[in-house]
Amino acid sequence: MIQPKEEKTFVMVKPDGVQKGLVGEIIKRFEQRDLKIVALDMFLATREEIDNHYPKEEKWIRRLGEKTLSTYEKYGRDVTDLQKDFGSSDLLEVGKVVRGWLVSYLTSAPMVRMVVQGVHAVDMVRKIVGPTMPYLAEIGTIRGDYSADSAISANVDKRAVFNLAHASETTEEATHEIEYWFGDKKTIYTYKRFGIDE
Ligand code: GDP
Ligand code: MG
Repeated sequence: MIQPKEEKTFVMVKPDGVQKGLVGEIIKRFEQRDLKIVALDMFLATREEIDNHYPKEEKWIRRLGEKTLSTYEKYGRDVTDLQKDFGSSDLLEVGKVVRGWLVSYLTSAPMVRMVVQGVHAVDMVRKIVGPTMPYLAEIGTIRGDYSADSAISANVDKRAVFNLAHASETTEEATHEIEYWFGDKKTIYTYKRFGIDE
């Protein structure tokens, strides 16, 4: 039977995930939840590739800046501190700085990109990966089990939050990212998993 919510999502093991030897562990966690790996590849991304992977719309960049400010406020710091650390308190400018850190982080070592397929694959994979900030991620998620990083430590070090893996947040993001990373002559396979795709 064709499942109405059978979908594909995009995952990348980030450089810290590869360098901590977690590629197998991360893939295992998807497979044990009945999700199927249908494309898989290790690669070293260029700055340009990463620059085009993350949205360039002001809205998305500003959201990164807003997230940064809300972390500051949570820890009793404010826009003045933002101005000190980022050279600007304009949230779009702050977002641009964080986006730049992301490009440096994701080009610093090889990554593993994959397409994961299954029922509710987008939400399932996000649940397994956990929320953005590892120190807040529940035990049992990839980010919660293998990292304790936070925006506060990352911003002080002027780097992106090291959180082991990227996973698409919505079906629209997944469609766009799969096309972007696997659209050009890279293979996505079709096969049946025993006991699941009967
Ligand atoms: P994700 O979908 O959970 O990866 O999170 P986002 O799409 O919101 O952000 C993209 C990436 O930017 C995250 O995975 C982090 O590596 C990094 N990041 C997000 N927010 C912050 C922040 O406030 N400070 C820093 N330094 N990095 C951040
Ligand atoms: Mg995201």
